Amino acid sequence: MLPRELTAIIEAAHRLNPRLAAFTSLLSPQDVALAFNEAPRGPLHGVPVAVKDVFCTTQLPTTAASRMLRDYTSPFDATVVKRLREAGALIHGKTNMDEFGMGSTNLNSYFGPALNPSGPHLAKVEDGEARVAGGSSGGSAAAVAAGLCRIALASDTGGSTRLPAAYCGVAGLKPSYGLLSRWGMIAYASSLDCVGIMAKEVGDVRTTLDVLSAFDEKDPTSAPQDARDRIAEHDDSLSPTWTSTNLSGLRIGVPAEYFLAELSPTVMPSFRRTLESLQAKGAILSSVSLPSTPLALSAYYVLASAEASSNLARFDGTRFGARAVEQEADPATRSALYAASRSQGFGKEVQKRLLLGTYALSAEAFDNYYLQAQRVRQLIRREFDSIFRLPSPLIPPSSSTTSNNAGVDLIIHPSSIGVAPRLRPSNTTTTPASSIASYTQDALNVPISLAGLPGLSVPAGVSAGEEDGEGKGWPVGVQIAGQWGSDKLVLKVGEAVE
Ligand code: GLN
Repeated sequence: MLPRELTAIIEAAHRLNPRLAAFTSLLSPQDVALAFNEAPRGPLHGVPVAVKDVFCTTQLPTTAASRMLRDYTSPFDATVVKRLREAGALIHGKTNMDEFGMGSTNLNSYFGPALNPSGPHLAKVEDGEARVAGGSSGGSAAAVAAGLCRIALASDTGGSTRLPAAYCGVAGLKPSYGLLSRWGMIAYASSLDCVGIMAKEVGDVRTTLDVLSAFDEKDPTSAPQDARDRIAEHDDSLSPTWTSTNLSGLRIGVPAEYFLAELSPTVMPSFRRTLESLQAKGAILSSVSLPSTPLALSAYYVLASAEASSNLARFDGTRFGARAVEQEADPATRSALYAASRSQGFGKEVQKRLLLGTYALSAEAFDNYYLQAQRVRQLIRREFDSIFRLPSPLIPPSSSTTSNNAGVDLIIHPSSIGVAPRLRPSNTTTTPASSIASYTQDALNVPISLAGLPGLSVPAGVSAGEEDGEGKGWPVGVQIAGQWGSDKLVLKVGEAVE
């Protein structure tokens, strides 16, 4: 990227951030210029990359948008941050998010909500027309959409990359679980957490994926090299002739269960047009069934909260996190200090999830909630395996693993049940973040997370609009997902949608 273009982006980020709240911290233009002079000449040389504030960076604070970590600066870079720097990227800002990744609207942030810049008009927060950027990676999506960076790192535990990408009209990839290292990424739910990538162009997402995808011995769940080698074999066995203009013979399934009652009709015209354009390029569409889909959301919230209650136990104000102000903590007992630090440091939503998760893991509830949710997760995994043409490259091939010739290569569905909700709904005092409706926003994203599969949300036009003021002209995303390891194919078809 030319220094002049870079300067324009950095200046715009500083100018627009007070209004959009896309960043929690920004590097000064002088520091960016210094970094530019020293940047290695790799595939991302001089490219301004924004990084979600959940990844540890030595240069700017790492807060997870929590009061608990508001003064924390990491002594190390996360593996993905290190790889970005080695590729020549300039990390010029950390992006806003829901606290510790918990939320779908970015309203659960210590820094306040990121604004969606992609609607028919850029509204102010006070204005009833303003809409959320989505969450939890709302800042990354808003920054990409407003041109305040070219690429952004996000995270995706149950939709946090794909949902805000859809709401803001940018591309957002949740790679296959284990492909990108989680080392140095503040954990929410370790068995689900993935590093996400956002950009306006799918090509930039692919370049970043290539830079970041590598085995990392520091991440115990990093996909081993033999599985990575099998991905390459699978890529070769799939038709190498498929391009963004020729998808002849590619089989795409449309899962019947994804068309929930909550799905807003305003996203359907864009979705239908996308299906028609893929068909015109030679793709073969068919209906597929994933019967356990309606169970996914409840299983997700039990498992994610249970894992969070364990992962966030470290923030006790002693070893990690802000200590409660002395006069409010009872100095007599250590547990009173922990309790005061955690009550003051965590926001309401995080506290709610920690209570729910602790309960799900208690002897009383373990069988009925936690184990039951694990069973649902198994079912969901198996159902996905049964519809795809190729088996998962995670499993070493044996005499019993065969290709399912009647299977599909990918699935496709709307990325979200509607367009971005209003920041301050006018007809009710409940904000989206505090309503049950906010949990349903990820209903279409969590099944893929539970199964560890790759999913890409790509922009597919804007909403048709409804009489009830659903919102005309707001971005609509479609999601393309595939078997574990089919990230390259997912991106290729994503490019065909553009
Ligand atoms: N909305 C989901 C949650 O709150 C997704 C979060 C995520 O992917 N980080 O758990």
